[in-house]
Amino acid sequence: MMCSIRGCSGEYEYKRIVHTVHKGDEIFVFDHVPAEVCSVCGDTLLEPEAIGHLEALLKPKSEPQKLIPLYNYVYGAL
Ligand SMILES: [Zn+2]
Repeated sequence: MMCSIRGCSGEYEYKRIVHTVHKGDEIFVFDHVPAEVCSVCGDTLLEPEAIGHLEALLKPKSEPQKLIPLYNYVYGAL
């Protein structure tokens, strides 16, 4: 499928990506999410099915598989 970004000649390729969801102050990170990614500009499309699955994983009863450190990039802070 051709990229939907105007002027981009790339094509979407099926990939497994790291996808982040921001909810309020919290950030949720999902690894190995199936997506279509443009080979040129990197535009990413998630299938409605994948979005539904991410929402199901965010329900309070599900526990993360792994806890990872989160680094907040603040320019000039170091
Ligand atoms: Zn593109």
